[in-house]
Amino acid sequence: MTLPQTVAFSRNSANVFFHILTQCNLKCRHCYINPQQHGQNTLPLSSIVGWLEAFSENSHTKNLIFLGGEPTLHPDLPAAIRHARRLGFGSITVDTNGYLFHDILDKIDPGEVDVFSFSLDGATRATNDRIRGDGSFDTCVAGIHKAVSKGFDTSLIFTISLANIKELEEMAPLLKKLGVGRFFIQIIGLRGRSASQESDKASEGILQIERQQWLDTVPRIARMIAESGITVSYPKVFLNPDEKFECAGLVADNYFIFPNGRVYRCPLCEDFPIHSLDFKENQLVSAAKLNESDFFQLNIPEGCVMNKLIQPQNLSYRKDGTPEYKIACCLLKEEVKPA
Ligand code: SF4
Ligand code: SF4
Repeated sequence: MTLPQTVAFSRNSANVFFHILTQCNLKCRHCYINPQQHGQNTLPLSSIVGWLEAFSENSHTKNLIFLGGEPTLHPDLPAAIRHARRLGFGSITVDTNGYLFHDILDKIDPGEVDVFSFSLDGATRATNDRIRGDGSFDTCVAGIHKAVSKGFDTSLIFTISLANIKELEEMAPLLKKLGVGRFFIQIIGLRGRSASQESDKASEGILQIERQQWLDTVPRIARMIAESGITVSYPKVFLNPDEKFECAGLVADNYFIFPNGRVYRCPLCEDFPIHSLDFKENQLVSAAKLNESDFFQLNIPEGCVMNKLIQPQNLSYRKDGTPEYKIACCLLKEEVKPA
């Protein structure tokens, strides 16, 4: 039997999530990209290079993730990957919706990218395409096959919502068939498009999952998938009152970079102009106060302060007013490895 382990925040490494553009060919229902807050520009290669260089000190301890929008829409992605490789980043991942524009798999070698991470939100074409758009299931599956056949390591991200939780179990045989090495389960949040009124009017209604449904479903199916030989990660989300709460903004080193120059340390802050850092002329500088870093300091019995501010419906209180459980940092993960 494989058991989930909480992945402790690393004090010795950093994760650099680099959105090189916000443009995308899809319109997924849960997309967290918010062009008003993140910009609509495509970052020129000269800025990508300059901003990567701002992270070049001890680069071997930093994991770099290229994102968008859809990062393969950027014609200079291969050059950006090569520059990052030359700078010595510890790992390089490209997150893609599977459309793999500009023949990216023909322009780089498996030795240049550690992982291509694909996104599917259903085990069936019907469910995935209802969330991500017509044709996206077949295109993503074809993209994974192509990447695996060329020798790239691959992973798959599945964002769980009420619209697809019933298909999580069916992902096990699909992952095996596709030859994917790792499976990341995400939980739909209240950011970007899923926080909008457009989402409330959707045919399935609100897509957020209740605590009990999450606890009854995700850990069990993650174990089942791990037993089939695939490492699975998923957000911890809920902490018992006696479990230790830590805010990654205080104890870990994560950077969420957007093409308008904003740099956040917390994903839950990304819908608001409260980023803690800015890129100014290729230099990373502190942003005006107050900002997200002031929120990280607040010690509340409910755990994550940003959750309490933007998703208070996730909380539940006893008669005496104390919270029944804490909400973990959204970056805290459970991992289940194959036996
Ligand atoms: S979730 Fe990703 S693939 Fe979907 S619309 Fe947003 S950026 Fe594009
Ligand atoms: S999600 Fe909450 S706990 Fe995690 S970094 Fe943000 S504010 Fe801190």
